[in-house]
Amino acid sequence: MALGIRQRLLASHMFAVVVIAGPFGVFVYWMAAQVVDAAHRDALRLYAALAFLVCVLAALLLSRILAGRILMRINDLTARCRALASGDALPPRRPGPRDEFDNLSREFDAMAGRLRHTAQDRERAHAAVRDANARLESRVRERTAELESATVQLKKEIESRVHVETLLAEAAMTDGLTGLLNRRAMLEMLEQAAARLKPGETGLSVIIIDIDHFKRVNDEHGHDAGDRVLAAVASRLRELGGDPQYVSRWGGEEFLILLPDVRMAAACQRAEAVRRDVARLHVDGGNLQVTLSLGVAELAPGEALDDCLRRCDQALYRAKDAGRNTVVAAHGTTFATMS
Ligand code: GH3
Ligand code: MG
Ligand code: MG
Repeated sequence: MALGIRQRLLASHMFAVVVIAGPFGVFVYWMAAQVVDAAHRDALRLYAALAFLVCVLAALLLSRILAGRILMRINDLTARCRALASGDALPPRRPGPRDEFDNLSREFDAMAGRLRHTAQDRERAHAAVRDANARLESRVRERTAELESATVQLKKEIESRVHVETLLAEAAMTDGLTGLLNRRAMLEMLEQAAARLKPGETGLSVIIIDIDHFKRVNDEHGHDAGDRVLAAVASRLRELGGDPQYVSRWGGEEFLILLPDVRMAAACQRAEAVRRDVARLHVDGGNLQVTLSLGVAELAPGEALDDCLRRCDQALYRAKDAGRNTVVAAHGTTFATMS
């Protein structure tokens, strides 16, 4: 009996079925020569279908198992990544076959180790920088404190020197016994006051004062008592002489009062007030009384200061000649006794 093309093909060749399920494939074959009749053919079809089903199930099972393993390795890697990111210790590696995942896991561990090393180095470097900064700041604080203390010390020294210089300057200008300006300082004041006058201007008067018979005070009451008299008279002059900075001890028992901007008449009144006041003065509990002789002069327009002082001196001598306890005014070259 002649066989059809299909039967001939089945009788002489292999028949093959290939099932592809994901990455897995199932290959089924049987010899077509054994296919002799329809009953066998149906049985074969059934076996083939069953085999196909079994293969599919096996492929699914296998792929599930393999997927589970892969997922486990991926989860393992994920856990390692998380540990690295949070700085925790890496979890122990699960034992498994030496495959790509294992290689990847090992490489990852090596990389994590290197990263940890680098991070530790960086942390050590940061710590060293922090230490150096702290030391530097401490040194700067110490030096700043030293500088501040040195500045305070220097400031104190400067203040003390300025104070000493001020005292020295004052001492150079002041009479030690009476506290009044000394002659040198008064000469400067006189020159400055005269220099301030405009050419042809008047209004600068002087009073020269001398304690009468002062030698007798010393002789009769002692030098210390004489000093006390000098101090007491100076104190009255400071109060009555106008601006205290224009009252001076001119020498010995003599005093000079400078009256800037004061004309002759007012200067004479001031001298008279001084004479009367001191005449009433009682020193050492009333034991001692002294009187004064006073000469008054006004600087004439264009007159030299020395000439004015000389005329004032002459007025003082006239007061002595007039019996002491007297004020004499020098009007040019003439003199007028005021009291
Ligand atoms: P006159 O009325 O003519 O001015 O007579 P006087 O005695 O005041 O004048 P004199 O010049 O003869 O004597 C002045 C005396 O003043 C002599 C001197 O020892 C005394 N004297 C000067 N300076 C001081 C001083 O600082 N302290 C004391 N205690 N005496 C002084
Ligand atoms: Mg004298
Ligand atoms: Mg005298």
